[in-house]
Amino acid sequence: MKKTSVRFIWISIVLFCLVKPNNLISWGFLAHQTINKQAILGLPEPLLSFYSEHAQYLSDHAVDPDKRRYIDTSEAPKHYIDAERFGIKDASDISFWDSLPRKHSAAKEKFGPDFLHANGSVPWQIQKMMYGLIQAFKSGNQHQILQISAEIGHYIADAHVPLHTTENYDGQLTHQKGVHALWETRIPEISIENYQLIPASAHYLPSPADTIFKFLAIAHQLTPMVLAGEKTISCRIPEHARYEFSPTKESGKPIKNMAFLYVKGYENLMGLMVQTQMQKAIQQVANFWYTAWILAGQPSLPKQRTTSNPNENLDLQLIENQTNTDSSNTESSSCSKN
Ligand SMILES: [Zn+2]
Repeated sequence: MKKTSVRFIWISIVLFCLVKPNNLISWGFLAHQTINKQAILGLPEPLLSFYSEHAQYLSDHAVDPDKRRYIDTSEAPKHYIDAERFGIKDASDISFWDSLPRKHSAAKEKFGPDFLHANGSVPWQIQKMMYGLIQAFKSGNQHQILQISAEIGHYIADAHVPLHTTENYDGQLTHQKGVHALWETRIPEISIENYQLIPASAHYLPSPADTIFKFLAIAHQLTPMVLAGEKTISCRIPEHARYEFSPTKESGKPIKNMAFLYVKGYENLMGLMVQTQMQKAIQQVANFWYTAWILAGQPSLPKQRTTSNPNENLDLQLIENQTNTDSSNTESSSCSKN
């Protein structure tokens, strides 16, 4: 067996052990942490060794953007886009996504910053992070590379969740409150150990911006099925039976949670949707990391150990300020590369 194959298998085993739910901060963070860790397996050398070395860091920081929502009012809109507010009439209308400006500066000009703040800006946030990651690779700043890699993974993952693309994000407009956590948190919680989540080899993205709008279009197309499935299962299971008290693994203390039968019944109606969307997110995270490194000129990677503590955050405001004026550079440099 080739030396690289042995290394790959060893890294796979280590990463699989690291993503076991017992090691995670909370159920709600499970998917993000898993996506970042599994994406590493799609990378070629030397990225594979570099990212594997820092797998725990990438997992710990996969949830930083969600933590920031509590202290930074500008954070929340970066995680979603309410497509209806931008004018989509039919969820299956893929062509609608071609009508949205590719560049953040153009989106701000067309819609205004207040509109984007109110209705979401995830496609442009991913582009900003991509620009920041390219710059981090160029500068060889290990802390920036890791922090931005972890966070772009978060936003890409969010953009694969159907309910992050609609104004009816928690079924609140159709009396289906709770569907968001049901799809995004509870299904992975009970089933992730059975998912096949090894990505294919990362590939270069000729236009990261086009890729973002394509995966958003696919996620949004799924929203009618996500909501219809919840209606169906709610008709079958009366409201009082949708919740149960079950002991937590850590303390054994009972907490109120969505009942297993309710979650499992909903998952059966969804088929492989949650697993498939997670697989796609993992593949795209690997593709974006790899593409950023290519666009930076394939620089050699820093060799320090991870030294920052998990609560230490990069000053993302700095990147924000830099990219407000020239985030389009990511687009133009990526489009010029074949
Ligand atoms: Zn998020």
